[in-house]
Amino acid sequence: MTRRFHCDRCGACCLQLSRFGDLYAFLDDGSGVCRHYDREKRACTIYAQRPLLCRVEDGYRTWFADIPYERYLRGVREGCRQLRRSLRAARRGEGGDSGKQI
Ligand code: SF4
Ligand code: SF4
Repeated sequence: MTRRFHCDRCGACCLQLSRFGDLYAFLDDGSGVCRHYDREKRACTIYAQRPLLCRVEDGYRTWFADIPYERYLRGVREGCRQLRRSLRAARRGEGGDSGKQI
């Protein structure tokens, strides 16, 4: 494994859990936002204990180790880009996440 994933803490994943179907339902505060996300600090309040589903490196070792790590990272980064686009659209009121303001 050469390079590690860099999270810029945009929050686009933690603020849009409903984008992942039911996968993160156990973290959803009822509005699609993670109940462990601190909006002011833009941080996970349980970072050290966050679920495996929220861990990019551990997720690779657990579920995706049969593909090259760089390929996995490209997929993760593309997912982040899509989530950021979706978040920007939601904030502009363009229908992201059913049009609600995030
Ligand atoms: S969308 Fe990606 S970059 Fe943004 S907080 Fe989530 S993991 Fe980090
Ligand atoms: S547990 Fe932490 S990293 Fe996972 S979605 Fe919630 S705030 Fe984000």
